[in-house]
Amino acid sequence: MTFTAPETTHYVPKDLPTHIRHFINGRFVDSVSGKTFDVLDPVSNGNYATAAAGQKEDIDLAVAAAREAFTNGPWPKMKPRERARVLNRIADAVEAQEERLAELETFDTGLPITQARGQALRAAENFRFFADLIVAQFDDAMKVPGSQINYVNRKPIGVAGLITPWNTPFMLESWKLAPALATGNTVVLKPAEFTPLSASLWAQIFKDAGLPDGVFNLVNGLGEEAGDALVKHPDVPLISFTGETTTGQTIFRNAAANLKGLSMELGGKSPCVVFADADLDAAIDSALFGVFSLNGERCTAGSRILVERAIYDEFCEKYAARAKNIVVGDPHDPRTQVGALVHPEHYAKVASYVEIGKTEGRLLAGGGRPENLPTGLNNSNYIAPTVFADVAPDARIFQEEIFGPVVAITPFENDDEALALANNTKYGLAAYIWTQNLTRAHNFAQNVEAGMVWLNSHNVRDLRTPFGGVKASGLGHEGGYRSIDFYTDQQAVHITLGTVHTPKFGA
Ligand code: NAD
Repeated sequence: MTFTAPETTHYVPKDLPTHIRHFINGRFVDSVSGKTFDVLDPVSNGNYATAAAGQKEDIDLAVAAAREAFTNGPWPKMKPRERARVLNRIADAVEAQEERLAELETFDTGLPITQARGQALRAAENFRFFADLIVAQFDDAMKVPGSQINYVNRKPIGVAGLITPWNTPFMLESWKLAPALATGNTVVLKPAEFTPLSASLWAQIFKDAGLPDGVFNLVNGLGEEAGDALVKHPDVPLISFTGETTTGQTIFRNAAANLKGLSMELGGKSPCVVFADADLDAAIDSALFGVFSLNGERCTAGSRILVERAIYDEFCEKYAARAKNIVVGDPHDPRTQVGALVHPEHYAKVASYVEIGKTEGRLLAGGGRPENLPTGLNNSNYIAPTVFADVAPDARIFQEEIFGPVVAITPFENDDEALALANNTKYGLAAYIWTQNLTRAHNFAQNVEAGMVWLNSHNVRDLRTPFGGVKASGLGHEGGYRSIDFYTDQQAVHITLGTVHTPKFGA
């Protein structure tokens, strides 16, 4: 164990684990090799724990346990209603432990506590939603004209490999775990190495809820080691991945050898388009929340704000004034709106974009470490909410995903230019449109290259709707019945009722 006492005075949860293990076949275990890696908390940047570093042999053990639980265990054969009961017990446990889960997630990721609470509740909702969906909608039967019935037999696929990122890890893990388990698959989860804590919390919750051994397996470790072995394992027929576009491309190549089912939720550089006729105050609220909530570490962040020329100066002035007022501080303080970035490596990346931005745009707010941080937080991964105006479309801060509290503002003259600017990146995850003109809003939604569009709205999403991006932002959609489609084989069975009328070849 390499715990170093944090030099800061920030809040440290009680009973913090100092060693995080894998969870294989119902037991917490270390790596076969005994290797570990250090886990930092982003406020002190001290190692608060070690985590077992999984390698190919640990993935082999986890996949074998999941395969055995799939082939010979009760889970895939249970009636949907029985599986739903377990999923609902999991949701109950998450709700009952909301405060503890939020506190640990905040400590591990640097997310503000008020936002981490919301993420914990959303994770519970994911389990409840798929518990209901699996009971309501599983097999489909259709009567066809003539004397036939056709039905679709939805079957769990086998061992699902789930690979997740470090932003809002607990909630994003639930987003994959709930549908994969609801449909009767068994799983091996490989969480992000920056934030392994919340995945081990899932292990205990599942155990307590009565999930049979081997159904949920967890292997911590580096992407190039544990993640790579999971992607290449021949007994894992599908991979659901959320992370960077470049990692997604590597996984796509590596999964090709075994023709795996793939779902990819990747990066973004989403436009927030504000027309002159918009409700300006509402647009500013949303454009601030859209990039500065979750520390800007949000895949759907509206990190490029496009503003119609007639209101450009007024928008920039009001927006920057509000950005300067955002409360940056200890993530555990309920007043904090922007916490610490997840890891010093990520901090260095975001800080380097801030320096690039100073050569590419006009700095209106932020631009480095915040001033007046509470005592003891000066060495943490803090970036003041940073606003650049007059950013050209070919600028790096306009084109590249920064994944931190940094936003680029660019003016436009008319609808055509707004659309061209909105579509002028390799990404296509989300778009936000602010206008009072509904015809314009819907036309824009038709033509913008984005998997999800919010019109006069901010990131509120019913769990029945599809989630996913186009272009370099992803492959496939999850959400609602689309998740059920991804995690099941849909076998068509055709039966004749009565006389069979087959053309008589050779008669
Ligand atoms: P990342 O791609 O670095 O890592 C994601 C996961 O992939 C981690 O568990 C990592 O260990 C693993 N990994 C890395 N290399 C691998 C390999 N060769 N084989 C198998 N697994 C490998 O991403 P990150 O930095 O953790 O997360 C941030 C990124 O995630 C951002 O780009 C963000 O936009 C994206 N994201 C997208 C969505 C979405 O729904 N579209 C949601 C959240 C985050």
